[in-house]
Amino acid sequence: MDKQLILDLNKEDLAAELKKLGQPGFRAKQILEGIFKHLYDDFSKFGNIPNVLKTELDTGFILDPVSLSESIVSKDKRTEKYLFEVQQANRIETVLMKYSDRNTVCVSTQVGCPMGCVFCSTGQMGFTRNLSSGEILGQILYVIRALEAKEEKLTNIVFMGMGEPFLNYPAVMRTIEHLTDPELLNFGARRITISTVGIIPRIKEFTALNSQVNLAVSLHAPENELRSKLVPANRMHPLKSLITACREYTDKTRRRITFEYALIDGVNDSDNQAKQLISLIKGMLCHVNLIALNPSKEYPLPGSSRERVDTFAKILTDYGIPNSIRLRRGIEINAGCGQLAQSQQSE
Ligand code: SF4
Repeated sequence: MDKQLILDLNKEDLAAELKKLGQPGFRAKQILEGIFKHLYDDFSKFGNIPNVLKTELDTGFILDPVSLSESIVSKDKRTEKYLFEVQQANRIETVLMKYSDRNTVCVSTQVGCPMGCVFCSTGQMGFTRNLSSGEILGQILYVIRALEAKEEKLTNIVFMGMGEPFLNYPAVMRTIEHLTDPELLNFGARRITISTVGIIPRIKEFTALNSQVNLAVSLHAPENELRSKLVPANRMHPLKSLITACREYTDKTRRRITFEYALIDGVNDSDNQAKQLISLIKGMLCHVNLIALNPSKEYPLPGSSRERVDTFAKILTDYGIPNSIRLRRGIEINAGCGQLAQSQQSE
C-alpha cells in the first residue's frame, strides 16, 4: 500500500487515522504540534509519542513530501531557489526572496501549468498534475525550517510559483486553512497572496469567501488582442469580464486588488498602453506592480529598459493609479517561474 502524505490530512482526518491505529484522541494534537510547532521533518524526532507509534506512522505515512534536488543562491544572497522532487518523481520549484523587512516564499501549486503564457518557462513545459495540499504545505515548511536554522522568520507567502492556483482551488484553500489555523501554523491571512492569471469563476468564488488573503491578478496587457497572445487564458476569460469580476471583488470585500504587469520591450510598454491600462482599472481599489520581464530561453524578447519602466510608472502615477516598480530577482539563478525545472529537464 502506498504511503499517505500526513500533511494532506486535516485535523479530523488525522484523528480518524489515529483512531484506526487504536490511539487515544490526544495523540492527534501531539503529532500536529510536532509538525507545525517543532517543525520535525522525520517521525523519529518526535519526542512526545511512543516509539511503537513512531514506527507505525513511518510505515503508513510520509512526513516530508518534498525532497531537495538542488538549491541555488543568487550572488547578492537575497534570492534562493529550491528545486524539489515530489511524488511520482515530479520536479517543482520554490523561491525564497529576502527583503530588508520581510522574507517571502513563492510556492508552486501545480507540476507544470496548462495556461501556456508565452513568456513563462513553466507555461512552455505544459501541465503534468495538480499538487496536493500536503505538497504545497511541504514547500512552505521546508523554507520555514531553513529560515529558523538561521534564526530568521518567514513573513509572507505568495502562491505565484509553477501553476495556476485557481485551477487547483480545493488544495490551495486547504493549504491556507492549515497555514492560518491558530493551532497549526497560525500564519496571518493578510500576509498570504494568491496570484491568478484570471480564472473568473474562481475569482467569484473567492470573492464570496470574503477572505483576508490577498488577491493578485496578472494582466500583462491592457487590451484583448495582445493579452490573448501573451496570456492564452484571456480567450476564455476576456479582459472586460475579468475586470468586472475584479471590481466585484474590491466592492464586496473592500480589499485592494493587485495587478501584475510584466513589461516587455516594444510589446506592452508604450505610453498609449499605459493609458489603456488606466482606462481599464481607474476608480478601482487597486495597486499595480510593474516589473521588467525576466529573460528566458523560451521567449526571445527582452524586458523593458529601466527608463521605459520608469516612464510607464510615471504615467500611472500622474493619473492617480498607485503602483510600484519591482526589481527583477535572481536572473542569474533562473529565478523566473519554471526556469530551473526547465533547465534540468533539458539537461
Ligand atoms: S505565468 Fe503562471 S499562469 Fe502563466 S503559464 Fe506561467 S505559471 Fe502558468
